[in-house]
Amino acid sequence: MTYLGVCGWPVAHSRSPAMHNTALRAVGLDGWEYLRLPLPPPLFAATARALAAAGFRGVNVTIPHKEAALALAGDASPAARAIGAANTLTFERDGAIFADNTDAPALLEAVRARIDPAGRTALVLGAGGAARAAVWALVGAGAHVEIWNRSPARAAALASELGARPVALPGSAEIVVNATSVGLEPNIDPFKAIPLKADTFEAGSCVIDMVYGSGETRFLTIARSRGACVVDGLEILVAQGVASFERWTGKMAPREAMREAVTTSPSP
Ligand code: NAP
Repeated sequence: MTYLGVCGWPVAHSRSPAMHNTALRAVGLDGWEYLRLPLPPPLFAATARALAAAGFRGVNVTIPHKEAALALAGDASPAARAIGAANTLTFERDGAIFADNTDAPALLEAVRARIDPAGRTALVLGAGGAARAAVWALVGAGAHVEIWNRSPARAAALASELGARPVALPGSAEIVVNATSVGLEPNIDPFKAIPLKADTFEAGSCVIDMVYGSGETRFLTIARSRGACVVDGLEILVAQGVASFERWTGKMAPREAMREAVTTSPSP
């Protein structure tokens, strides 16, 4: 058997096992299996280093291990280095561990399918791991990026590190990314937690919500009603999964089957 997996703490909610096992069956890799690996932080590094010997080709890494994953890898992609976090580890045949961040190219792929980001204005809401990936991707693609965050000092630090501009109040932009964790809780109104007015969404703009759940988030429903093109978090989840899958297996990932699997798997 060859194993893949997702390391996190907690990780019970992850849709990646359903997505990747569906993909493995669809391309005929019957001797492969994708496992859920709940790892508390003190066990992460030692366990990850031992996975290759246990038959693992690679793992996805989620909260809270993304920085530790980058630190233990011998080599890393420019995206993972610049973002300071990895969501994909590959165990090479010579024993080396390679770290990558597929969240950034996933976001860029989704944006480019709708709008060319070069020269556009972009607003990223948040300053955590997902925001870092979004800012790095959009700045690299030539967008003029503004960052708003609930804790302004984090927005300022991220902006100065990655070549964006912090803003005290979010305004309109041609590309808007919600990379805060606000959006799923029915008792939190995203337009109260984030000081963004619904009428700042412009017709023809591209609005992405990294957050995903069982249905469309309120953030995207409002953006859609204002005439924006919307991208949900499941599309980003599938795109980062496609990149990881192709890196590990060398086969083209069955994107539609993966989307179907994450859509029908239980909500986090
Ligand atoms: P994180 O590092 O914990 O960052 C959370 C961000 O949300 C911070 O900027 C935080 O602001 C902000 N925030 C939290 N509660 C808030 C509130 N009540 N009001 C306003 N801002 C609030 O998390 P992350 O890893 O960046 O993930 C963010 C979201 O993206 C999560 O929902 C995650 O599931 C999702 N995500 C999705 C994908 C995908 O494939 N679709 C990939 C990665 C992440 P402060 O700095 O002020 O605390």
